[in-house]
Order: sequence, then C-alpha cells, then structure tokens
Amino acid sequence: MNPSILMKSAVLAICAALLACSSSPQATATAAPAPAAHGKISKLSQVEGDVALCDHKVPEQVCVKHHPELVANFKKVGDWCPEHDVPESQCHLCHADLDFSALPTLPADADFALLSKAGEDVPDLAAHVVPGKVTVFDFYADWCAPCRKIDRHLHGVLQERKDVAVRKLNMVTWETPLAKRYLANATSMPVVTVYGRRGKLVATIVGFDLAALDKAIATGAAQ
Ligand SMILES: [Zn+2]
Ligand SMILES: [Zn+2]
Repeated sequence: MNPSILMKSAVLAICAALLACSSSPQATATAAPAPAAHGKISKLSQVEGDVALCDHKVPEQVCVKHHPELVANFKKVGDWCPEHDVPESQCHLCHADLDFSALPTLPADADFALLSKAGEDVPDLAAHVVPGKVTVFDFYADWCAPCRKIDRHLHGVLQERKDVAVRKLNMVTWETPLAKRYLANATSMPVVTVYGRRGKLVATIVGFDLAALDKAIATGAAQ
C-alpha cells in the first residue's frame, strides 16, 4: 500500500470512529444544548395531573396532530422542530427520552427550593448548604430531557426521606452568569452537586447518572 492510501484509510477510520461516537446511546442520553437548527423545548408540552398519551406518545390535550390550533403557540416560543414538523418538545425522533408523565407530588414538608430561577448568579453555593441535611444542588434546564428524570428521582427521594434538601438552579443557557460560574467545564447536563450533613462537598455529578447520585446522597448522610 502506498503512503497516500494508508493516510486516506487512517482518515476514514477516524471519521468512522467519530460517527460511531456521535450516534452512540451515551451521546443521546446526555443533553448538549440543542443545535441551532432545532427549536427549544418549552414547557408547553408538560401537563399537570394524570397524563393520557395519544397514539403519537404525547399528552392528548397538547398534541398538535390532534390540536392543530396549538401549532401557533409552539412556534411563537420557538418550540418547533422544522425537520419533523412537530414541536421540539414533542419530537420523539430528535429526543428519544422525552417524558411527559407528571412528577410525583412533593410532601408538604419537603425541603425544596428554587435557588436560581433564570440563570442569575449564586456566588456562594456553600452558603446555601442546609446544616444537618444532605443538600443536593440540581443544575437543570428546561431543554434538558434527562434533567426531568433527575427531578422525578429527587421528588421520590424527598417523599422517602427528611434528611435531604434539594435546591434547584435553572441554567437557562450556557451563557447565563450561573452557567458561567458553575458549568464552564461541564460537557453535558444535568449537573448535580451534593454536600453532606456536615457541609462537606461529596460529589459533583456531570451527566445523567442516578446510581452516582444515590451513592453521593448515601455518602453525604453517613458523614
Ligand atoms: Zn396525538
Ligand atoms: Zn425532530
């Protein structure tokens, strides 16, 4: 084989590896910001209470195939997938992990608060650690489908135990003061930071990993 052919096959191998990597399940499980060609996932497809899915696997009352009159609302907020002609928040082709089921209700005494509503800076996370409890700082974004799975899990944790406090922080985009301070090195969302009962940092978990989250909560409780 002459050197130029060798070179070509090396380049092809690298391209193939990159392609394989970008289409691996892991790459879709972690949520990078939606590419510019896509819309944003708004809350318009989320419904409260019992959710009945239609044959498009979308809550019936917000499905645009059943309710074409809703299309304008979705387009107005940029929640639209031009490629598949459905709301981004209803596009199962682009988002394999869309989840419309209602979150478990929080107990009245759940220690739960929204610390950053719209990406505003929280200069000192440690100042918000709850003494005597495991504090879970949950960095999320509305466009992040796995973040909603973290929500679901944490709601379950709060139902079961009183020694856990959850503080949610809405990054909105990678450009907000909050994201710039805490998520500059994060490669994917969600990001969850856990402090133990005595206020010691236990772990920061980047990407969707419920087992690591449970382990960090257990470690924090044992401190
Ligand atoms: Zn439908
Ligand atoms: Zn799509």
